[in-house]
Amino acid sequence: MDKVDAIVIGAGAVGLAVAAALSRILPNVLVVDKNSGFGEETSSRNSEVIHAGIYYPQGSLKAQCCVEGKQALYTYCEERNIPHKKIGKLIVAQTPEEEAYLSTALEKARTNGVDDVRRVTASALSTMEPFLCATAGLLSPSTGIVDVHSYMQSLLAEIEVNKGQFIGQTYMESATVSDSGFKVAFNSQGEKVRLACRYLINSAGLKSEAVARNIDGMPECHISTVHWCRGHYFSYAGRSPFSRLIYPVPEASGAGLGIHATLDLGGQLKFGPDTEYIDHLAYGVSPRLAPKFTEAIKRYFPALDEARLMPAYSGIRPKLQGPGEAVQDFEIQAEDDHGVKGLVNLFGIESPGITASLAIAERVVQRLYLGEDSSV
Ligand SMILES: Cc1cc2nc3c(=O)[nH]c(=O)nc-3n(C[C@H](O)[C@H](O)[C@H](O)COP(=O)(O)OP(=O)(O)OC[C@H]3O[C@@H](n4cnc5c(N)ncnc54)[C@H](O)[C@@H]3O)c2cc1C
Repeated sequence: MDKVDAIVIGAGAVGLAVAAALSRILPNVLVVDKNSGFGEETSSRNSEVIHAGIYYPQGSLKAQCCVEGKQALYTYCEERNIPHKKIGKLIVAQTPEEEAYLSTALEKARTNGVDDVRRVTASALSTMEPFLCATAGLLSPSTGIVDVHSYMQSLLAEIEVNKGQFIGQTYMESATVSDSGFKVAFNSQGEKVRLACRYLINSAGLKSEAVARNIDGMPECHISTVHWCRGHYFSYAGRSPFSRLIYPVPEASGAGLGIHATLDLGGQLKFGPDTEYIDHLAYGVSPRLAPKFTEAIKRYFPALDEARLMPAYSGIRPKLQGPGEAVQDFEIQAEDDHGVKGLVNLFGIESPGITASLAIAERVVQRLYLGEDSSV
């Protein structure tokens, strides 16, 4: 059986960032995906926003990895000419209750180390964004947008320069734990392939729970339940009325950030995502959602022209927070948690997973004791 140092299951932005970090230390790293290309699932179905780190509970992995990851991602993009833009974001309120939320959010941002967020008055808002209707807002100058496909391409190039490899159309079926590591069975285009490795990283996103269940030796009591929560987007035809990202206050459930307005690097405006828990994976966007979107958007953009709103795409969040449950953190689970040497499970890597990807990758390296001081 062929042996490699590390296998990463899942070639989304996070799996690729982990594989790139491992490839800087280990000579023989493989990242596999069941799809033919990299990043065909959640990593290509999101808002492509580089988040600042405002919303997440102090000390949580989401807060830490978002703030560290944001800085690392801006640097990575600059060094590698990955298209990105720090266009800034406004979080806006329409009621006294929502204004009170802005104060909480400002406080939270500061405790998370995001110290450039500032209050904006209604009159300043109308100068900055004439089509916006709001009584108060927060400006986050360090929020930006990134071309996630180019980012993933760049991570893959780094992996390959470091002699690592991406293999598509390769479905991880099962793995067994042994003293020297893992034996992993794949179905690669109908062919059964078995590989041995010392380190195994489960970065399978929506299927991370299923992948963990297929590792013989992974204690069941440590396998987290992953809920699927779809978010739909509508694009807005024609010229964008906004030059920054516009967010309402988040949903009270904490499941989503509210139907917001984001721009891509080509200037295309889109609205979304909403939240809908689902029990099978499907990506359709029903035109029947238009009235719900219209109502939410008109709160901050009364001049919305409904005829310009078109169903666009959807993405599915791998959430540890089930319907009606409290907000959950990312889970980076290693030997110290589950007792299996060399195995890291990444559960619940929803938003801000793109922003946090380089920081998550650093933590995976640390949790495997592969830092600079450890002998490999
Ligand atoms: C609607 C929405 C909006 C978002 N907006 C933002 C945002 O603006 N900013 C931000 O920072 N984050 C955002 N996120 C979060 C971000 O998109 C995710 O956190 C990130 O893409 C997760 O990357 P990943 O590599 O963990 O997972 P994925 O991209 O899902 O990759 C997992 C991969 O594993 C593969 N796989 C699964 N099972 C197997 C198997 N058995 N064998 C082989 N391969 C397998 C899959 O094919 C897949 O390619 C958003 C998410 C959603 C859903």
